[in-house]
Amino acid sequence: MRVAAEPTPRSSTSTNLLQAAGLRVTPQRRLVIEVLAQAADRHLTAEDVWTAVRDRYDGFNRSTVYRVLEQLADAHVVTMHRLGGSVAQFELAGVAPHHHLVCVRCRRVAELLDADLSVLRRRVLARERFVVGGVSVTIEGVCDRCQGRG
Ligand SMILES: [Zn+2]
Ligand SMILES: [Zn+2]
Repeated sequence: MRVAAEPTPRSSTSTNLLQAAGLRVTPQRRLVIEVLAQAADRHLTAEDVWTAVRDRYDGFNRSTVYRVLEQLADAHVVTMHRLGGSVAQFELAGVAPHHHLVCVRCRRVAELLDADLSVLRRRVLARERFVVGGVSVTIEGVCDRCQGRG
């Protein structure tokens, strides 16, 4: 028997995230969540989000983007990171636990897997008998793109 595929409601994820956080579902909030979900490297500044949404929705201005990001951060739908620079970076909350590698030249952010810290956890436990719990690590360095440039 063939079952016709249910058309997936567009942006159901953003709607679910907002509802789960107890926030009213608005087109602006949904769009910001979608932009963050679609971002290839997942870490965007408010300015990046603004650039991505301004052509897609008329009722948006820059301050709306900032306000929406703030509301979503307050509700823990997005996480705001200050990764050594003056500019905050945003990503969707609830992604796999990870840490951040920040390029000191271009401020590009890459992810450091939590598993990469397993050696640290083991050694700290062995030496200090300290069980490492919540860790937030930001490592600064030079990204692959910037290494090529003098
Ligand atoms: Zn991240
Ligand atoms: Zn770089």
